[in-house]
Amino acid sequence: MAEESTITARAEDDKIRCDACPVMCYIRPGLTGACDRYANRDGELIRVDPHIVLDRTLAQGGKVVPFDRGGDWDGRLVSGGESFVTAVGSGTTYPDYKPAPFIVSAEVDGVDMVTVVTEGIFSYAGAKVKIDTDRFLGPEQSAVRVDGEAVGHVTTSEYGSQMLSLGGVHHLTGGSKKEGRVTCEALLELCNGKAVELAIDGGATLVVQAGRPPIVNGAEEARMRVGCGSATIGMFAKQWHGKVDEVVVVDDHITGVLSEHQAGKLLGIRDTGIRMKGRRSTPGRYFQVAEPGLGWGGTNISDPLSILSPFDAKLAWPGLRLLLVSTTGEHYGYYVLDEHLVPVETEVPADLYPSVERIRENCEPALSSVLFMAGAGGSLRAGVTENPVRLTRSVKDSITRVTCGGAPVYVWPGGGITFMVDVTRVPENGFGYVPTPALVAPIEFTLPLAAYAALGGHMDHVRPATSVIEREAVREMAPFSDIPWPLAARSQG
Ligand code: SF4
Repeated sequence: MAEESTITARAEDDKIRCDACPVMCYIRPGLTGACDRYANRDGELIRVDPHIVLDRTLAQGGKVVPFDRGGDWDGRLVSGGESFVTAVGSGTTYPDYKPAPFIVSAEVDGVDMVTVVTEGIFSYAGAKVKIDTDRFLGPEQSAVRVDGEAVGHVTTSEYGSQMLSLGGVHHLTGGSKKEGRVTCEALLELCNGKAVELAIDGGATLVVQAGRPPIVNGAEEARMRVGCGSATIGMFAKQWHGKVDEVVVVDDHITGVLSEHQAGKLLGIRDTGIRMKGRRSTPGRYFQVAEPGLGWGGTNISDPLSILSPFDAKLAWPGLRLLLVSTTGEHYGYYVLDEHLVPVETEVPADLYPSVERIRENCEPALSSVLFMAGAGGSLRAGVTENPVRLTRSVKDSITRVTCGGAPVYVWPGGGITFMVDVTRVPENGFGYVPTPALVAPIEFTLPLAAYAALGGHMDHVRPATSVIEREAVREMAPFSDIPWPLAARSQG
């Protein structure tokens, strides 16, 4: 599928000059430009990929899928609020003083709405990656590399997840040419849902793919931890009560000890004389019992007894029953103190084992999540309005809705239009690149037509949505079933 570009193409011999980005490629007949997004077809500059329109009447549940109308289509064009013209495949106008490629209007619930549609070129762009694992991926601030090039860094971990910050203008433009190219390629692959192998300085090698389990040092992660060690004690203390005398939940951040923990105190659990290594924070909560690693609970230990000091002989007793377990239930061991108060491993009793299973059951599947993040607060706004700051204010005032390929975005507070989007909500291959290098991402601004006129919109370029939908280059798709319809009233979206 192909579409005649709205941008200006100038013939030079048999080549066409594309002016959709600063690279300004000369493209020979039958070939594409450097980004593979534009091509010279019989002397015409065309956008290669189909232009995606979401059609709510095609909703089939589940994922966005290509829709084939087949031979019995009656030619009826769905209009109004049932179709949404996305920016995927819409093309770009450069520089931005030109109006956006498509500015379309449709009546939605009795209100004339307009959607400004463009594939934005983002130099200030990157990905925030959340990896559901407590395994040690690398020290904070360590470089994350692809093909030896730094493409980002490890940032602060979150509850049960390790976080990476990838891309950004520093890596795209501030380093070597190769660093910029590799960063751009890695971001493009990640945003388009492909698997990317990352190597972290002083840490792990991992394979990340949006919506898929992470693979850490060759092992696919299965479970996200149920909580920190202290939280695990709080959740399961009652289930252990009476079946075991002491429980230690091993965790790289906060290791929990049942008898000392407030949950144990409230249940009247007797002191056991257990002595932990590491730094005691509050009762029953210990920090730094070991080094971070790929072992028990995100620590580097394979022998859980290594985090215990000898029991206090004044409080412990022979026969004391001890359960050691990790925050995913992946690792566990049951011990009984002998006459010298030394833990001796034995089989987990049948009535205790379900509590370990319960920890596992409460772990959610480990996934990698990729949020594309970019700043749309620059010159791109001039393609929407001749007075750009009014667009920013309109977004902040919730008059203008921002979407990315029809997917909802989170717009950061403060200045500019800095947004994030879950890449799994964007139609397949919705992202592109240009070799400046920069990411290309779809972006749509939807607002009432009257508001668009008031903010200085390009009113003479507004055209009916049906005039876009009926072109042969359009591919209609059902929207994702689990995202708000981009043209729905605010209360619904
Ligand atoms: S890189 Fe792509 S968008 Fe930029 S000028 Fe070349 S063909 Fe056009």
